Amino acid sequence: MAASWVLSESGIRPLPRIYPQPRTSVASKSDNLYKLRSLPVSRSHNLCYNFKVSSWPSYKRRNWALNVAAPVNMDVVSGENDKEREEINGVVNNSEEGEFFDPGAPPPFKLADIRAAIPKHCWVKNPWRSMSYVLRDVVAVFGLAATAAYFNNWVVWPLYWFCQGTMFWALFVLGHDCGHGSFSNNPKLNSVVGHLLHSSILVPYHGWRISHRTHHQNHGHVENDESWHPLSKKIFRSLDNVTKTLRFTLPFPMLAYPFYLWSRSPGKKGSHFHPDSDLFVPNERKDIITSTACWTAMAALLVYLNFAMGPLQMLKLYGIPYWIFVMWLDFVTYLHHRGHEDKLPWYRGKEWSYLRGGLTTLDRDYGWINNMHHDIGTHVIHHLFPQIPHYHLVEATKAAKPVLGKYYREPKKSRPLPLHLIGSLIKSMKEDHYVSDSGDVVYYQKEPNLHGIGSEKTE
Ligand SMILES: [Zn+2]
Ligand SMILES: [Zn+2]
Repeated sequence: MAASWVLSESGIRPLPRIYPQPRTSVASKSDNLYKLRSLPVSRSHNLCYNFKVSSWPSYKRRNWALNVAAPVNMDVVSGENDKEREEINGVVNNSEEGEFFDPGAPPPFKLADIRAAIPKHCWVKNPWRSMSYVLRDVVAVFGLAATAAYFNNWVVWPLYWFCQGTMFWALFVLGHDCGHGSFSNNPKLNSVVGHLLHSSILVPYHGWRISHRTHHQNHGHVENDESWHPLSKKIFRSLDNVTKTLRFTLPFPMLAYPFYLWSRSPGKKGSHFHPDSDLFVPNERKDIITSTACWTAMAALLVYLNFAMGPLQMLKLYGIPYWIFVMWLDFVTYLHHRGHEDKLPWYRGKEWSYLRGGLTTLDRDYGWINNMHHDIGTHVIHHLFPQIPHYHLVEATKAAKPVLGKYYREPKKSRPLPLHLIGSLIKSMKEDHYVSDSGDVVYYQKEPNLHGIGSEKTE
C-alpha cells in the first residue's frame, strides 16, 4: 500500500516542499513536524522541491480514504448539549439528509486525486501572458496618476485613491506570483519582475516571498502557519489591552501589514528586512539583503519625490493609495483564512497535514474586482498548488470541485463590489479570538470580555 501511495503521490508534478524544520520554535518537541527535520530535502533555492516521499513517517502514509472517524485528539469544547457542542466545534449536522460532515475529519481523497483532476494545460506558465498583465497594470497605474494630477479636484481624488490602491494591490498579486515561480519558469525573470513590482509598493520581495512560502507549507497549523494564524489562549491572554484592541477592532487589523513586515505577529519574532531574522535560514541572507536594498532605494526615491513635488501631492498620489493597498491586502488575506460561517479547524501535531491544512483555506468572490486583482479569491487551489498561474486558477478550481466535495466551501456570490464580505469580517473580529492551548484539532473561540473591561484580570 505504501508503495502505491508513493507512486501516486510522487507523480509528474513535484510535491510542495515541506520545510526541513518549522521556522518557529513554539511547537512542542513531541510535535511530529519535528520528525520532518531529518528528511532529505533539496536545499536549492528553487521554489518547487521534490520530496522523498518514502521517507515520510508512517502517519503521513496512512490511507486517508479509510479514515473517516473523528480525530482522536479533538479538542472538544464543552457545550450545554450536543447541538451547542456541534455548533461550537463547527461540526455540521445536516440531519434532514441524515448526513454528518465534520470539517476536521481527514478527507477521503489525496492531494494526488485533486492534482489528477486539474487539466494539464492549467499547469503551463506563459511568461508572455504573465508580462501582459504586468504591462496592463503598470499602464493603469501611470494612467490613473496622470489623470488625477491633471484634474486635481476633490471629486476625482477619492475615486483615484480607491482605484489606485486597488491597482497597487493588483501589482502585489503579480509579484506574489513571481515569488511562487508561477509567473514563469525563469527564476531570473521572476526575481527581476518581482523586485520591481514589490519594491514599488514598499514590499521587501525575498523577505515576504520566503515568509509567504512558510505560510503555504504550514497552512492551517496553529503554531507554524505564518499568516493570520490563531493565537493560543495563553498568548491571547498575555496581550495587553491596547494590543488586543488593535488586533480585534476595525479598522486597525486592516492596517497591519507594514507592522507585520517589521515585527511579525505576537508570539513570534523577526523582521522581514533583517537577514538574521528567525524567518530565514543562513543561506537566504544574500537574498534578504538584496530585497532590503531595493526597498531602501524605493524609500529614497519617495523622499526625493516629496522634495520635488511637495508632501501633499505625494500623499495624494502615493501615500493614500498605499494605505488602500494595505487594506486590500489585509482584507483579502484575512478572509482567505478566517470568517467562514461554519467554524473551520486548525491543526497541530500529527493531525496536521499539508492537505488537511490547505483544505481549511477559503475562496471568496470579489465581483468586478476578481479580474482586477488576478483572481486571488480562488485561494484553495492556489494554496495547495501555488505553481499554477493565476490565469488558470478559476478553471483548475472548477475541475477540482467534484473531488473536494464538502471540503470545498462555495463562496457567496458577490455584487459588483464585494461589500458582503465586510459583514463576514466584522463577525469574525467579534468571534474568532483564540484557540485552545492544547488539542490537535481546534476551533476559534470567543473571549466574552475582549478588552478586559469589567472582567477579572485574565492572566
Ligand atoms: Zn493564504
Ligand atoms: Zn500564495
